[in-house]
Amino acid sequence: MDGFYDPGEIVGVLTAQPLGGTLDYRAPEGGCWQGAYVEVPLGPRRVWGVVWGPGEGDFDPAKIRPITRVLDVAPMRAELRDFLDKAGDYTLTPMPAMLRLATRAPALGAAPSARRVYRLGEGRPDRETDARRRVLAVLEEMGGLALTQKELADAAGVTASVIKGLAKQGVVREEEAPRDTPYPRLDPDWGGKALTEDQATGAEALRAGLQSGRYGTTLLKGVTGSGKTEVYLEAVAECLRQGRQALVLLPEIALTSEFITRVEARFGAKPAEWHHGVTQTERRRVWSMVATGGAELVVGARSALFLPFQRLGLVVVDEEHDTSYKQEDGVLYNARDMAVLRASLNDARVVLASATPSLESWANAEAGKYDRLTLTSRFGEAVMPEMRSIDMRVEDLPSNRWISPTLAAAVKARMARKEQALLFLNRRGYAPVTLCRACGHQVGCAQCDARMVEHRFQNRLVCHQCGETTPMPEACPACGVEGKLAAVGPGVERMAEEARAAFPDARIAVLSSDLFGSARALKAEIEEIAQGGADLIIGTQLVAKGHNFPLLTLVGVIDADLGLQGSDLRAAERTFQLMRQVAGRAGRTEKRGVALLQTYQPEHPVIRAILSGDEEGFWRAEAEERRHAGVPPYGRMAGVILSSPDVQAVFDIGNALARGDGPLRQVGAEVYGPAPAPVARIRGRHRVRLLVKAPKGVPLQRAIADWVGQIRIRGDVRLAIDIDPQSF
Ligand code: ADP
Ligand code: ZN
Repeated sequence: MDGFYDPGEIVGVLTAQPLGGTLDYRAPEGGCWQGAYVEVPLGPRRVWGVVWGPGEGDFDPAKIRPITRVLDVAPMRAELRDFLDKAGDYTLTPMPAMLRLATRAPALGAAPSARRVYRLGEGRPDRETDARRRVLAVLEEMGGLALTQKELADAAGVTASVIKGLAKQGVVREEEAPRDTPYPRLDPDWGGKALTEDQATGAEALRAGLQSGRYGTTLLKGVTGSGKTEVYLEAVAECLRQGRQALVLLPEIALTSEFITRVEARFGAKPAEWHHGVTQTERRRVWSMVATGGAELVVGARSALFLPFQRLGLVVVDEEHDTSYKQEDGVLYNARDMAVLRASLNDARVVLASATPSLESWANAEAGKYDRLTLTSRFGEAVMPEMRSIDMRVEDLPSNRWISPTLAAAVKARMARKEQALLFLNRRGYAPVTLCRACGHQVGCAQCDARMVEHRFQNRLVCHQCGETTPMPEACPACGVEGKLAAVGPGVERMAEEARAAFPDARIAVLSSDLFGSARALKAEIEEIAQGGADLIIGTQLVAKGHNFPLLTLVGVIDADLGLQGSDLRAAERTFQLMRQVAGRAGRTEKRGVALLQTYQPEHPVIRAILSGDEEGFWRAEAEERRHAGVPPYGRMAGVILSSPDVQAVFDIGNALARGDGPLRQVGAEVYGPAPAPVARIRGRHRVRLLVKAPKGVPLQRAIADWVGQIRIRGDVRLAIDIDPQSF
């Protein structure tokens, strides 16, 4: 239970300022609850914070200043504070950074009661200008949602006077902004489908889990199209019946709109949405409605895990194997693991859904920590595609061409039958390497240890590491000779060029994240393709994730070997998952699909496992290797990344850390390195990594904290700790 602090009592307030722990203040006149959002003086400034608990009291009591005021928002619940404490301990993240994850500053502002908002009105403007057209286009895309003047002006790139002008004519409607209003109630008994036997068994098990009122995690495995979504929506329904809130995490915003449509069909109303494509006004509403129970279901990105749920009952992590659940910037956390932690603190349930689970989740299910539910067949007539390799060693292919005659013939056959084909290549841009034929120089990023990638569509070179771009040079930056720069290797843009020449009659769509200005534009394109607006789709990783293309019956993988290069121990797992996911795009309706994998090593064990679909066999072999190497999920890993513009400084500190490994050895952990990090330089900062490997069950975090605590970090060196790194 949360305590109440009487006026003048000393309390510890956690602020979002990077100062370490809590600071002591006196409870204000009228007192305050533990968890209250408050404003406190800090030096000459005033900052917001949360009353975390009793004060430390190690400060001269006479000098402790009072809290200035208590903010008019719901206090942070004990469960969320506990979650932040534990997640901070696990990821070794300072608490101010954890607090920032859970509280977006705008949420603390005054309610937008007196503000004006704008939505689409009636008629056309008296005079059409580009600026006016843009305003109307933005509002049309909002589909009835209102925007504040600033949001609308920013989105349309116009001044306030353009909006005012349109409002005067009634083409745009100006209204008082509503106070934050609850989301429409979802009806758990609205539009349920008749489930297959398999699905019904799964749904029943998930319902029973919710009814138990205890924490538990279920791994819901089933090939793409088997109805996992239908099944976990039944768990959401049960959660709603209990009057508890549910959260569904998706790995990619581009998937949200299709999902929202399904939620609406199932529950008769739309859920709340939370991701970086949502306006500030709307996010404010989500935040306060989640806190007060006015939002029953939230669909969102990983950061939705930190919302202030009032009664969380269920978290679904869809496509749980997806690497984008790992946040790689700022606070380094894996949303899948944090979902399990948060649910366990709420007596809530977790559903991890995937066609190709991560080895971690598979091992947890094997060990009995997670329940397992498996949907074995695709819904309706649909079956998994037939999978075959194309042996590139024997295909007759001129240089700088990547579509083999066998694959080309298969594409043409689909076109003749008015079916869709997809060519998959996990490489954005035109070509991965730009090489000078005069001097052999490969154009690299000035700031990073990475090659510049030609994006011909934009006529620029782009660094995929830091985003730096330059116009496509005429002359070689090294030797100055003109006209000798050559594109080496394929990217999706180049595949599109080859495909246009090979299939001149085909309508070709290229799906690569960098070719779309907005999530909305991408969504529109995906819908268009799903309805038959293209014959041939050329895509990167983006298409592997969950989209439904009913007319698609052929998937051609241009380079199935791509992910198998390199020394990363997770390479096999990733390749297996990606290839099975991509292949799963084909034949999601009654037409049987085919997946063709171009490979130079058809005998490679991973390629053979992909083709045979022997998942259990693959996981067992993979698990055996990991167990042998003592790495996750059978051992624990952590990375320490040091970065600085000064290469000597990072190695000096790295070496000092390596020598001072006493605290690690005490718990049986070993340290490797320092070695150049997987990307050795980013944005001008040199990076080295130390990897820590430990047996399971040792207090690794504490040992790491003691270990890095011994070393004084000097000058411009930064240290980041990555518990459970993605690559090792
Ligand atoms: P997954 O999440 O496993 O990829 P989905 O739940 O998206 O599978 O199901 C694939 C398709 O089959 C969807 O269009 C879905 O609506 C449909 N479907 C699945 N189960 C049923 C069912 N019992 N009744 C009607 N349609 C279903
Ligand atoms: Zn760069």
